[in-house]
Amino acid sequence: MTTTLQDCQALDAQDPLRPLRDLFTLPPGTIYLDGNSLGVMPAAAPARVADVVTREWGQDLIKSWNQAGWFEAPRKVGDKIARLIGATPGTVVATDSTSVNLFKVLSAALRQSAQDRPGRWRIVSERSNFPTDLYIAEALCKDKGWELVLVEPEEIAAHLDDRLAILMLTHVNYRTGAMHDMAAVTKAAHDAGALVVWDLAHSAGAVPVDLTGAEADFAVGCGYKYLNGGPGAPAFVWVNQRHADRFWQPLSGWWGHAQPFAFTPDYQPAPGIARYQCGTQPMISLAALECGVDTVLAAEPLGGMAALRAKSLALTDLFIQLVNERCAGHGLTLVTPTEHAQRGSQVCLARDTGAYAIVQALIARGVIGDFRAGDGQRHPDILRFGFTPLYLGFADVWHAVEHLRQVLESAEWQRPEFHRQHAVT
Ligand SMILES: *Cc1c(COP(=O)(O)O)cnc(C)c1O
Repeated sequence: MTTTLQDCQALDAQDPLRPLRDLFTLPPGTIYLDGNSLGVMPAAAPARVADVVTREWGQDLIKSWNQAGWFEAPRKVGDKIARLIGATPGTVVATDSTSVNLFKVLSAALRQSAQDRPGRWRIVSERSNFPTDLYIAEALCKDKGWELVLVEPEEIAAHLDDRLAILMLTHVNYRTGAMHDMAAVTKAAHDAGALVVWDLAHSAGAVPVDLTGAEADFAVGCGYKYLNGGPGAPAFVWVNQRHADRFWQPLSGWWGHAQPFAFTPDYQPAPGIARYQCGTQPMISLAALECGVDTVLAAEPLGGMAALRAKSLALTDLFIQLVNERCAGHGLTLVTPTEHAQRGSQVCLARDTGAYAIVQALIARGVIGDFRAGDGQRHPDILRFGFTPLYLGFADVWHAVEHLRQVLESAEWQRPEFHRQHAVT
């Protein structure tokens, strides 16, 4: 039996998470399937940011460091993010970018491994990991004389040996949407004597994560994707409590000092995660990030991440089913795993030619996804669609697939204007 628009509208009418859509300002006529790249603006953000600028900064000036809670803001927002990733209070701080945070935790893990298991000098990651993660690891390895080994996902198990210091993985792959079993992979790496660093860029706010339960070691994640924190929002960093008395970071700026305002000439790290701050933190961006995190926390009374996950899977299942039913014969191949346990909150479709132009034609129709270039070998060009259950409905999915069908059937995507490459895809 095929699924109709009316079926999808009925699903929306029954959806208990539907009211959460009102927490966002979506431009009219837009079906936004790119919340995995830049989340939609929370409706509360403009007034909150304006208040930080005009009142906290404009009127109260430097007093706001104390009276507006600016000094604590990175840890306060970190504690809110902690609720979404299975972390305990006081173990997460919102700060810097994902790339910079990865540099900090990889440096810490390298040092810890060298102390506990000397003779291991290898970091293993996936060849298809997000490039910035690989670039940061590559530079660190070059500097320290360590070795970065890149493998395919199915080769990871064979690399868990006594040469391995750190397994560095992204939980949900940005190109394919494939998700690792965090607990199982972490345990296997620990059994091999290695530390595990997880990147949660496509997980935080998208899928349930239990860092504490998985006994992971270090984690970083992104603020502007599923946390809806705004362009360039601070990222976050987490360290397991069991490393609390010893973890370190190489960017030992004054904001990570135990007493920044004692102005002592020597560096004493702050207790706990606060030491992962380096310099003065961005208050305007943090205010916007907090609005974004609050949109995800607003689901807590409605079942929280478990309810968001159930809806996300229903949305991605529907998208896959409708593409199969309505877009067959147009050369699209599903890249994302159909198995729920292996799927993040996105669906990727591969096509030998025209993937970029098809995405551009969809964007012109108000259906915003993105394009990720292939490597000409194992990874094809893909059309990537992210699903944020906070603001997407089932009818949106139906309309998105209908637009895709029309773009393919009319060959609209072959128009020259859709082939012009932009700097950001
Ligand atoms: C989006 C993303 C990043 C982004 O890093 P920035 O430093 O914020 O630019 C890093 N890693 C992964 C896996 C990502 O998906």
